[in-house]
Amino acid sequence: MLDAEFFRRWMTATAASVDREAERLTALDSPIGDADHGGNLRRGFTAVRESLEKEPPATPGAVLTQAGRLLISKVGGASGPLYGTLLRRAGKTLGDADEVDAAQLAEALRAGLEAVKQLGGAAPGDKTMIDALEPAVDALGQSFAAARSAAEEGAVATTPMRAHKGRASYLGERSIGHQDPGATSAALLIAALETAASGTGADGE
Ligand code: ADP
Ligand code: MG
Repeated sequence: MLDAEFFRRWMTATAASVDREAERLTALDSPIGDADHGGNLRRGFTAVRESLEKEPPATPGAVLTQAGRLLISKVGGASGPLYGTLLRRAGKTLGDADEVDAAQLAEALRAGLEAVKQLGGAAPGDKTMIDALEPAVDALGQSFAAARSAAEEGAVATTPMRAHKGRASYLGERSIGHQDPGATSAALLIAALETAASGTGADGE
């Protein structure tokens, strides 16, 4: 079973990997965006980590809703409201249970994914975070490791796509040949589930 502490470790592990990969995320956002994705997410997940340390919520649902709220308020770019919506809707779906199982987590992330699709209007193949999130949610029923691989493959698969949503879509054909920064950060979020399950909040800690 997964308790509030697991969800806090998930958010802390995400903050750590976003911190480590911030320059890469910003570099990916340079040719097809405005070079702020790493900074945006670093600011957001640092605020999430600090808030969860200061006021640790008692339930899995509360951890995710608090994290989602902070991402929406702290991140200027499009990705803040999108990630915030993902986590807030997932948190709401978990309700006030003290512990949830992996199937409930998968169901909650499915609801979050649907909310992101509704908010941003993106579908698979549009070269966005959806291209990593959707295959990951599909694979979550197998294991965290399967979800991680699916998300990483999904992110890599955005390279030959033409962007149809977000800033990159302004480039039309010229968006082809670059990996999407949001799909890349979504893979970090999903990979952090495995880190959290191993009992640490950050790799190597
Ligand atoms: P901004 O584009 O406002 O600078 P970021 O750079 O932080 O915001 O995030 C860009 C990422 O957000 C993109 O790489 C893409 O994955 C994701 N994104 C943008 N628009 C959408 C959308 N409508 N639906 C889903 N994801 C989107
Ligand atoms: Mg950007």
